[in-house]
Amino acid sequence: MLRDLISESKALERVFSGEELSYHDGLELMNNDNLFTVGATADLVRKNLVGDKVTFAASYYMNYTNLCAASCQMCAFYRKGDESDAYTLSPEQIEQRVGLAKQMGATEVHIVGGFHPTLTLDYYENMMKIIKKHHPELTIKAFTAAEIFFLSKLTKNSVKEILSRLKTAGLDSMPGGGAELFHPEIRSQIVRGKCSGQEWLDTIEQAHNLGIRSNATMLYGHIEKPHHIIDHLIKIRELQKKTGGFITFIPLKFSLDNTELEQNDLVKHECSSIYDLKIIAVSRLMLAGVLNNISVYWVAFGKKLAQVALSNGGSDLVGTAFSEEIYRAAGKPTASSVMELATMVKEIGREPIQRNTFFKTLRTF
Ligand code: SF4
Repeated sequence: MLRDLISESKALERVFSGEELSYHDGLELMNNDNLFTVGATADLVRKNLVGDKVTFAASYYMNYTNLCAASCQMCAFYRKGDESDAYTLSPEQIEQRVGLAKQMGATEVHIVGGFHPTLTLDYYENMMKIIKKHHPELTIKAFTAAEIFFLSKLTKNSVKEILSRLKTAGLDSMPGGGAELFHPEIRSQIVRGKCSGQEWLDTIEQAHNLGIRSNATMLYGHIEKPHHIIDHLIKIRELQKKTGGFITFIPLKFSLDNTELEQNDLVKHECSSIYDLKIIAVSRLMLAGVLNNISVYWVAFGKKLAQVALSNGGSDLVGTAFSEEIYRAAGKPTASSVMELATMVKEIGREPIQRNTFFKTLRTF
């Protein structure tokens, strides 16, 4: 039966003949109403490429500031400075938070923040040095390409100079945020004051060229159309062919609450679970053979849907997300223990693996 359904789709036939999928194939998959077929194919491809293991990191999230010079329509996190909950962490608070991360068993600190309008490069370099001084064994995964680009404009240093200085201070890798959707038709309606898609790609390429590997993300489930998704996936795929610097691809579900898109009635509800699963499956199929780690961000999905997504092409759960604040600002509960994530994986008959930032196995269960 699956074979019959596959033969009705040129794109799925091309998957089985081992060909790279084109833009038109991607559109066909996005418009294919039979999630079962697309998801089952993505799951087979996942099994062939990475087997039955499901990886996750013990990660501690630290958002050093919520002050932001930008005001993205898709964001519930930013503050302008006079609100009672606006904050910027001091060096002492950073040291204390990282100590907590260590106590919780984290192996990496995931650090992102708003575009702070006045902090100098010293603040960021000092942050790296504090962490490395007290906890050299922790991997620092910090600053999105969008933050680096902003910092370059703010401080009038080149992107390369900023990245080099942060690397010297202790930066090990970068998260994949700020990518949102690259296509200008959508980007101009969901972000305000953030770099363009091409500037994000150019910045992350420079990071990769300096030996700073990163994740890649895609924000979906707001006002996009299928071709915006495929455009984004192909741009990630092409850059990965060039640099090999992406570690994993993480589709991020748009979280509606407390955003301008919600307040202006531009998005009335979050996307369906069916759409979530299709995004995971299509990401797997479009990136197959080029970027083989496809992460399911369970924080946005909830644990039950995350388990289903792992059977639709996903192979990684990102991490424990201790202290996550960005999805929490949009009303989502977060944080899980390593054992809880391992149990989630065992419940679906797969093999849990705790990994480090770079997907090296640290522990089996
Ligand atoms: S998404 Fe990032 S850049 Fe945009 S407003 Fe929020 S914190 Fe600022």
